[in-house]
Amino acid sequence: MSEDLIGVVNAGSSSLKFSIYQGDACLLNGQVDGIGVRPAAKAKTGAGEALPPPDLSAVPPTTPAEALVALMPWLQDWLAGRRLAAIGHRVVHGGPNHAAPQRVTAALLDELAAFVPLAPLHQPHNLSPIRATMERNPSLPQVACFDTGFHRTIPEVAQVFALPWEMAERGIRRYGFHGLSYEYIASVLPQAAPEIAGGRVVVAHLGNGASLCAMKAGRSMATTMGFSALDGLPMGTRCGQLDPAVVLHLMTAEGMDAKAVEALLYRKSGMLGLSGVSSDFRDLLASDVPRARFAIEVFVHQVARNVASLAAALGGLDGLVFTAGVGENAAAIRQAVCEACGWMGVELDHAANAARGPRITAAGSRVAGYVIPTDENLMIARHTRAVLG
Ligand code: ADP
Repeated sequence: MSEDLIGVVNAGSSSLKFSIYQGDACLLNGQVDGIGVRPAAKAKTGAGEALPPPDLSAVPPTTPAEALVALMPWLQDWLAGRRLAAIGHRVVHGGPNHAAPQRVTAALLDELAAFVPLAPLHQPHNLSPIRATMERNPSLPQVACFDTGFHRTIPEVAQVFALPWEMAERGIRRYGFHGLSYEYIASVLPQAAPEIAGGRVVVAHLGNGASLCAMKAGRSMATTMGFSALDGLPMGTRCGQLDPAVVLHLMTAEGMDAKAVEALLYRKSGMLGLSGVSSDFRDLLASDVPRARFAIEVFVHQVARNVASLAAALGGLDGLVFTAGVGENAAAIRQAVCEACGWMGVELDHAANAARGPRITAAGSRVAGYVIPTDENLMIARHTRAVLG
């Protein structure tokens, strides 16, 4: 293999995931969790064999940027003299003007920093490792890949909120997220599910964060997340769609300030808040606490309702694709969603669903259901190589 090595970084508020690709082959996968609390790293080869992880105990990183800097000596050892051609980064928000992946410059970083108020829990953590790398290694090309980019094809009628028009011009509108995941699914649909790839498909990215995307011939036409990654489906700890008057009530009648509301809606709600047990679907599925069962019912109810809403935006439904942690692994949740979508023509094949498909619907099902694993990091690696030319 002679192709360049590409680094991929996906930084969140308390974790940093990193990978090395050569072409489409993943050579290394690693993760630092618990940043700011008790950072711990793990690493494995692309084939899944565990590697001795980086030791971060000397100076425990308190931010994702520090974590990336702390990883570098370990990474240099692993590279053993080879060099990275570039690093591609997941950046949650490209704002209204940045859809396609772009080589990072100081000017672009400044522009992207302006979207921090639109994604306060993601954007600063996405940008700080880029800035740290730029300071230490200015000649290493870096590419920003935007989670909003794939949704720029959404018709304007589905992008606006019914607020005064000038607010849309100020950037207060639906953007949509999980775009790198949806783009990956759209890229593999022609091979993985050729009979629906050109048609009307709802893709369900159900993970810790969860959203749905309505695709027509592989292009995004509508999505459940909106201005922020808080909207749409209930998630691990996020509330999803909420009557905005609830926020007004919490602030005016219950005296909560913006920080407290933010913590409530992003970190204490969703499956965790409803169940009082866990944000992790594995725990909820294994639990016999009634509220854990109920939280799953709420999730399934909202997924099914929103599949129907997106089918309406598409004028019908030919395919339903499940992906991400829950979508790929939780057969019981796929079954419940498919059964709730039965009236739209989704007819599950139970054995195929238990075997994780890839096709999970019966031969005569009007809507074809699939399980397709997503790969956001591969998408970032491909984009980064393409931007480098
Ligand atoms: P993110 O990238 O948003 O952190 P993932 O797509 O990795 O999320 O999904 C993580 C979630 O997937 C976990 O919170 C867990 O609830 C769920 N999950 C993973 N494996 C299983 C499984 N075998 N059964 C049910 N849920 C699972």
